[in-house]
Parts: sequence; structure tokens; C-alpha cells
Amino acid sequence: MELPAEEQVKSAKRRAAWAIVVAVIACVVLGGVLLSQRAERTPEPGRQSEIAEPDDNDEVTVYVTRTGTKYHRGSCRYLSRSKIPMKLSKAKARYHPCRVCKPPE
Ligand SMILES: [Zn+2]
Repeated sequence: MELPAEEQVKSAKRRAAWAIVVAVIACVVLGGVLLSQRAERTPEPGRQSEIAEPDDNDEVTVYVTRTGTKYHRGSCRYLSRSKIPMKLSKAKARYHPCRVCKPPE
């Protein structure tokens, strides 16, 4: 009881088609799992600190001198004569960052 040759070819083609469908579904499912895993890991420590920095800057205190036009970190050597604390946001409006101690901008 053999099938005619034409029927054998048809069933072989059908099987191949199913194999492709199953493979595609497997790829989609696996890809979705991998993507969701990657999405959970997306917040990298480096990126988080970059985002957090602008918020911190408002709280940063920098120092200016009575006569200078720069603002400085507290440890800068240019602050030996006078050391006037100032919020970074105010200092930025009137002063330039010191090139020696490189305060936050
Ligand atoms: Zn300085």
C-alpha cells in the first residue's frame, strides 16, 4: 500500500513546512526570553551614575575667592587667600571653573 509518488512529495513538503514553522516559533520564543532578560539588566551602573550626577550638582558647594573669577574645589591651592563657599548653581552663573582643580560644571 504505497502512496503515489506525488502524494509522497506533498507529505514531505508538508513536513518540511511544519519544521520551519516550529523552528520560527522556537526562535521567537527564545528571542523573547533573551530580550526580556537583557531588558532587566539594562540599567548599568555606569549609566545610572551619569543620570544621577546633574541632580547632585545642585547640592555641590564650590569655593570662590574675593578677587578671582574662578570657582574651585575645597582642596584647591588657589583658595589659600580667601575661601568663600557657594552653591555650584550660583557659582556657575558668575564664575568659571578653575582649570587646576577642575570643579564640577
Ligand atoms: Zn581651583
